[in-house]
Parts: sequence; C-alpha cells; structure tokens
Amino acid sequence: MILRLVCTDFDGTLLPISEEVDRSVCPAFFARLHQLREQRGVVWVINTGRSWESLQRELERQHFPCWPDWVVLGEREVYRIDRHLPIPHRSWNQRCSDLHQELFTATAPLWEGMRDFLQHQTRAIYQSAEWSPVEILASNATEADRIHEKIRDWIRPFPELSLQRNCEGFRFSHRDIHKGSALEAVQKEIGLDASATLAAGDHHNDLPMLDRRYAAFLTCPFNAIPEVKARVSSQGGFLASLPASEGIAEALTQFEA
Ligand SMILES: [Mg+2]
Repeated sequence: MILRLVCTDFDGTLLPISEEVDRSVCPAFFARLHQLREQRGVVWVINTGRSWESLQRELERQHFPCWPDWVVLGEREVYRIDRHLPIPHRSWNQRCSDLHQELFTATAPLWEGMRDFLQHQTRAIYQSAEWSPVEILASNATEADRIHEKIRDWIRPFPELSLQRNCEGFRFSHRDIHKGSALEAVQKEIGLDASATLAAGDHHNDLPMLDRRYAAFLTCPFNAIPEVKARVSSQGGFLASLPASEGIAEALTQFEA
C-alpha cells in the first residue's frame, strides 16, 4: 500500500485548539507533506467543519506555505482548490443539499422542541444556520456532554438524522453525509481509494472518516479524545505521541518507514 492521499481534519488535528499555546502548524508537517507531494504527487485534503471563509482566513493568517488540493467544508461539501479558490464538486454538493433539505423538512417538529430545551434548560448559544436548522455551542464541556446525551436520545426515532459534534459545537446532518462519505467523493474524483489514503482526526465529527472503509492509514494526534484514540487503535492505526500537527508529522514519517 502506497500513500497517495492525505486527509486531515483542521482544528485540533493540525492547529492546536487551546488558546494558551502557540496556535500554528509545525514546519515538520509541511516538510513531510512537501516531500510526499514532490516524490509521488500526494494529494492533500483538509476535511473540516469550518466554512470556506473561516478556513481561508486561518490559512492566510498562518501563512500556510502550501494550500490543500481539496477541502471538505461543513463536514459535507466538497471543493477542489484552484489558485487559492474553491471550485465546487457540483453533483456531490447538490446531492448533499437535496438530501438535507428533504430531511430537515421531514423532521420539522423536532426543531421547535429542541430550541425550547436549549433556551430553558441550558446556557448554550444556538441558531439556525446554512448547514443545519439548529447549530449549538454549549457553554462548557460538561454542558456539551449533557446536550449530547439528550439529543442522542431525542433523534433516535429519526434514523436518517445524525449529530456532528466538534468539542462544544453541534450540527445536524443526514446519516449518509459526513467526513467519511465526503472523503470518498474526493477519492472518486481523483481515482484513488481507501488503500492509498491516510485519514487523521481528533474529535467526534472525525469518527466517520476514521474507518478503514475510507482510509487504510488511520491516525490521531496525542490530544485526540478517547473515543477517537479507541477507534484508531482498534483498527490498527497509529496513535501519535505528539499533539496536533507535530503528531501528524510523526504519523507521516511512521507510515512511510
Ligand atoms: Mg478537530
């Protein structure tokens, strides 16, 4: 198996999450990536929950020496990057949009009750957003766990509905649309499959892509949550000993050894 596609989450996997530490991507990661691109044209995908505006701002602020070839935004939409601009994968993005529109309409009664719960029983901030009828930001990690548990029970009668959690943030999506199926859409476009792919993530919303169905090489940084470490480890993946991008640089070296 030869690595040809590197798919990384962004926050927590490349960029440290904590505000206290130096929030930058380490030179070792870019050096490894550059080498892999030069040697064998490795393709790089950033697979994130962010919007393009938010990701682009960070890539510019951090002066990324190279930009990704593809991005997955909002844990669903796929774009090829051409001269720092996102070119949509129209058929995939349209399918995402149609599926979600249908699903969110069919589940309409759910959202009112959820807003009521959030307003009266939590201190979370929530809003209707482009990608989800309700997007939630819990006030702290404990509250996020409580909301997570409550909503998991709540959506059980709606098998097509799934919850994407990233730290204290939540968004809803169709069960077939997630970082894993979006990665597969990229693979189909460039003619590669799981056997040539590395996937790296740190949080709940990365779990769907941290699966050998989508990537033969699985890894997570040292700061990954226990669920992610367990998922990576149970499939023979590599648990990095270093945080964020330093850990992913370590993994790239490990898988190439
Ligand atoms: Mg993350």
